[in-house]
Amino acid sequence: MPHTLRGFELLSSVAHTKGTAFTLEERQAYGLRGLLPPAVCDMELQQQRVLANLRRKDCDIERYVFMQVLLTRSQTLFYRVLINNIEELMPIVYTPTVGQACREFAQIFRQPQGFYISLADRGEIRQILDNWPERDIRIIVVTDGERILGLGDLGTNGMGIPIGKLSLYCACAGIHPQQCLPVMLDVGTDNRQLREGPLYLGTPIPRVRGDEYFALVDEFVMAVQDAYPKALIQFEDFLTPNAYGLLNTYRDRVLCFNDDIQGTAAVALAGIYAACRMANLPLVELRILFLGAGSAATGIADLLVHALVAQGLSPEQAAQQLWFVDIQGLVVSGREGLMAHNLPYAHAAPSMDFLDALDTIKPHVLIGATGAANAFTQTVIEKMSAFNMRPIIFALSNPTVLAECTATQAYQWSLGRAIFASGSPFAPVHFQGRRLRPAQGNNAYIFPGVGLGAMAVEARSISEEMFLRAAQVLAESLTQDDLDEGALYPRLHSIRDVSLAIAVAVAEQAYAQNLARLPQPDNLASYIRGLMYEPNYEVGEMPTAAL
Ligand code: NAD
Repeated sequence: MPHTLRGFELLSSVAHTKGTAFTLEERQAYGLRGLLPPAVCDMELQQQRVLANLRRKDCDIERYVFMQVLLTRSQTLFYRVLINNIEELMPIVYTPTVGQACREFAQIFRQPQGFYISLADRGEIRQILDNWPERDIRIIVVTDGERILGLGDLGTNGMGIPIGKLSLYCACAGIHPQQCLPVMLDVGTDNRQLREGPLYLGTPIPRVRGDEYFALVDEFVMAVQDAYPKALIQFEDFLTPNAYGLLNTYRDRVLCFNDDIQGTAAVALAGIYAACRMANLPLVELRILFLGAGSAATGIADLLVHALVAQGLSPEQAAQQLWFVDIQGLVVSGREGLMAHNLPYAHAAPSMDFLDALDTIKPHVLIGATGAANAFTQTVIEKMSAFNMRPIIFALSNPTVLAECTATQAYQWSLGRAIFASGSPFAPVHFQGRRLRPAQGNNAYIFPGVGLGAMAVEARSISEEMFLRAAQVLAESLTQDDLDEGALYPRLHSIRDVSLAIAVAVAEQAYAQNLARLPQPDNLASYIRGLMYEPNYEVGEMPTAAL
């Protein structure tokens, strides 16, 4: 905390400014007289002004830019507005708007946020990390920009994702903004159109791959261990083979996880637990068909195996209930070129296409994670509705335009019987006099709480059991009102409570598995609650020695 900020330096300090909320006494004390309009506004008024300005914008990308500018001007006000209006603003600061923001990142760029590491930094990553002003970094979200949402290789434009995810860590779980670090590993891009654009902000070369690539990531991971030994590294939006390669290399050695694999898995599993309650189906009896066999779908299946094993099945029995169709059709054991993560789910069955697989397997649950818009056609939903009283349909691909089907389609084509979840938000649907609230399987229900729990106990690593507990806690947080509306997840306005409950469960799990570095506090919940950042203009937040 700086003690000597005064005048414009204080006004432009993103962490300390109160803008028009500085009191007359503070204005006198800190040399602010004349630098602000005379009226003193409280935070409530400031929020009203922000919201009015935001709502006046013509489109969501303009609202995104407005919020980012606010974030680089006043962190406290940004987080207060975001927390108090999370249902309205999460789709602005994160998906779906963040998808467009990444596409246009180089065009809308205003001010650097986060840390960029490129091939030119090889051998010096540890040294340049010292350029970052904060020392107590606890959460790092890192991407190489190769598989941004369902949008493919966006190179350094992908920086919008770590920035967005970390703002959700702060808003949803109260991680302090100064403890967060968004990182972009710039290893080039194979998106030729992007790299040949005059405004592109990354190194305009094709992607570096193989040993050179993994050496750069390794240098980064090791530099983090030295510079920020308590930091959790969240790998984000890496291409699936790299995502698995990196996760398998580091998961037992350092504090890290991959949100596309493990976070997605936990949020989907929570949705499946809730759908089982709604459809009155036991989890152990479900047949689940995935369309898409990449990191998201396989991550869900891997965690489902843990969940089924916890209910008494063997891993082999569990895998028998999980089926995959990808771009080449049903994943079967005879197929050549299957990746390691697909092998446990390659069944001894003839190859067939998606529709034949549907007819053969007659799944209770259909999960889309393809990035292929409209893959769930009317025929697909009608078939699912023929097999099931309550077909469970998850269309997880992001952003909204890439969803396998819309909420309205799922409800209409199933005659209102579908239990539906999507990756990006859909508005409530009115169908035959009923209001149905489509669930958003948003990873933001899971990763902030997992990160908070791991941070609170200074965990050594993140276990699958922690994600299993997170999924159970999320499913348990559903109220009867949620279930009555057909919703599989709680309303976003309760997300800080949900994150706290998840953090407590994750911390307990860390103690149970001997993965915590800190001794166990007497009251875990109140200890963790006490760590959560609350964006308020408190006296304690003011520079005090400037009088
Ligand atoms: P990925 O590239 O690893 O995998 C995509 C898979 O889909 C591949 O197996 C591919 O063969 C298959 N596929 C593509 N088109 C297909 C088609 N027409 N028919 C059948 N299979 C097809 O990607 P990923 O990381 O698994 O992500 C997939 C999607 O899931 C993305 O759109 C991403 O935004 C979304 N996702 C959602 C959440 C969430 O909702 N919480 C989280 C993570 C990822």
